[in-house]
Amino acid sequence: MTATLIDGNALSKTLRAAVAVRAAKLTAAGHQPGLAVVLVGANPASEVYVRNKVKACNDHGIHSSFDRYPADLAETALLARIDELNRDPRIDGILVQLPLPPHIDSHKVIEAIAPGKDVDGFHVANAGALMTGMPLFQPCTPYGVMKMLDAYEIPLAGAEAVVIGRSNIVGKPMALMLLEAGATVTICHSKTRDLAAHTRRADIVVAATGRRNVLTADMVKPGATVIDVGMNRDDAGKLCGDVDFAGVSTVAGHVTPVPGGVGPMTITMLLVNTVEAAERGHGSF
Ligand code: NDP
Repeated sequence: MTATLIDGNALSKTLRAAVAVRAAKLTAAGHQPGLAVVLVGANPASEVYVRNKVKACNDHGIHSSFDRYPADLAETALLARIDELNRDPRIDGILVQLPLPPHIDSHKVIEAIAPGKDVDGFHVANAGALMTGMPLFQPCTPYGVMKMLDAYEIPLAGAEAVVIGRSNIVGKPMALMLLEAGATVTICHSKTRDLAAHTRRADIVVAATGRRNVLTADMVKPGATVIDVGMNRDDAGKLCGDVDFAGVSTVAGHVTPVPGGVGPMTITMLLVNTVEAAERGHGSF
């Protein structure tokens, strides 16, 4: 391995310590920051994510409420609960864990969250604010990636960046954030004709596909920075990313591991967004 490891656990620790200080200050001033987490159904991966998010809140002085509903919850009941949370002054941030069961319209649910409490940054108002360079809440995963690039002093202005994946929660906001930082950005996806031709000229590659080995050593320019957002299981059931880590580490300049890379940063940025929401007094939209 020649690449420098970008350590999401270590960076998270530093950023979370700062969150705890801000949360304690707010609490001392009379308002403890609060995050409401809503889970519908029993998706095992979602259960783990939600548990980790609630624990991270509790560990850093953020109050959390956790609503857990059966998979057959009516959409109207979920929307009514979100309406309650929107009005609850103890709640600064609302997180509805995705995916939702198929009978519930995710878009409708996300749009029901007050934009000033949308700490995931998925509401169309927040997506638009990001698009126009005036972000209120930035989606946690790409926001965390930007913090990693900053912490490791990866030059972005003028850099060639390739984002693999175009989802609303990772790929698209990631590309916008890199663009805002002055990178020349290419977005690749499943219809891209020659993925390797794009990645080989990139100074920064962000892989966010949910497909193992989508990026291999032969597709990486020597010295490039490789960020692996993917969370997959290998044949033995072990957590792995989208990147062939062993191979790519011999070529890249910097690389994120899975686990211990982007994953912890996503939760960290959720805490940051929640404390920010509390500091703003959630009345800004
Ligand atoms: P989506 O399934 O919504 O999007 C995947 C994207 O990858 C799509 O745009 C798709 O293209 C593209 N894609 C799929 N296969 C290929 C391929 N072979 N070559 C090029 N592009 C391809 O996933 P998400 O964006 O929600 O998540 C991506 C990954 O990141 C998942 O593994 C997810 O678990 C992980 N994740 C990790 C987080 C973390 O904290 N570490 C947080 C959020 C997500 P098309 O649009 O054409 O279908």
